[in-house]
Amino acid sequence: MKLIPNPILIKTRILLVSSVSILILFFPTGFFHELGHILVCASNGYDYVFSFGDFALNVHCSSLPDPILLYFALGGIFGMIASVSLFLSKKIRTSPGIFIGASVTAFDHFLKSIFETFTHSAYLSNFSLSIYMSALTAFFMIILLLFFSKREKFNSSYLNNKISTILKNKAKTFTQNSETFTLDETAKELTLAEIRNKECAGEKTITMIAVTRYQHDTNNFPKYVEYIKKNNLGTGAIYYGLWSDGYTVEDVEFDVLYVIHTENHDQIQEHLNKHDNMNKGKTQAMALMLLSDGTSKIIRNETIRE
Ligand SMILES: [Zn+2]
Repeated sequence: MKLIPNPILIKTRILLVSSVSILILFFPTGFFHELGHILVCASNGYDYVFSFGDFALNVHCSSLPDPILLYFALGGIFGMIASVSLFLSKKIRTSPGIFIGASVTAFDHFLKSIFETFTHSAYLSNFSLSIYMSALTAFFMIILLLFFSKREKFNSSYLNNKISTILKNKAKTFTQNSETFTLDETAKELTLAEIRNKECAGEKTITMIAVTRYQHDTNNFPKYVEYIKKNNLGTGAIYYGLWSDGYTVEDVEFDVLYVIHTENHDQIQEHLNKHDNMNKGKTQAMALMLLSDGTSKIIRNETIRE
């Protein structure tokens, strides 16, 4: 996972991908649109001319087909079906840019089916109608862009970056005498009491185990997070913190932690010796136990004699 530097980049990417998607979808969905008109025209036994001019596809039916409303409406309906059927693909559903592109295209065909059906004579001759339609489509696109860029702000790469920035700033003044400093997955600072409350409504003792050891680079965080998730360690929640053995920035270690709902001695020792493969053979030195009475206690790894 690569860290994305800022939300502006996320917004720009969504805007670019959605715009390109709209351009790419224009002709294929336009073709289905015209197919809708052709179907009604041909079923009446009339001739039709399918043409391409002024960057638009067009169908001319030799006579007015029956039912006339269906003739006008079916183009937009076919265009809509073609655009919406793209959502069958998971890749399209999960990429915000392509999703917006397909939605805006579907919306455009929806407007066309309405306008072509109810204002068909004006639609063909009145230029301001097409401006209204474009404005409506643009408005719809802006709403989707705002919604998705806001949602994307909370995606993992953005949060990784935020967590990393907060920890690095805090690390500048962090020493072995500093209070514990912990963030949750949404980059929110939590006290130990708040973590215990969040995990078990403060009733039980919980233990925090770090998967990192001698880690000084926050760019490695995604690797540890993935490791916790893949191995279903603890409750699934992930916390970030700082640990220092001294008084300089170089002494500060960056920690990725998970929580187990136990105070069992053997279980804690087992967890401390579980992650050496992630840290060049080094086992965890200690766990942090948060007791139900609000105090905390450090549990040392008994296999380490230093
Ligand atoms: Zn049409």
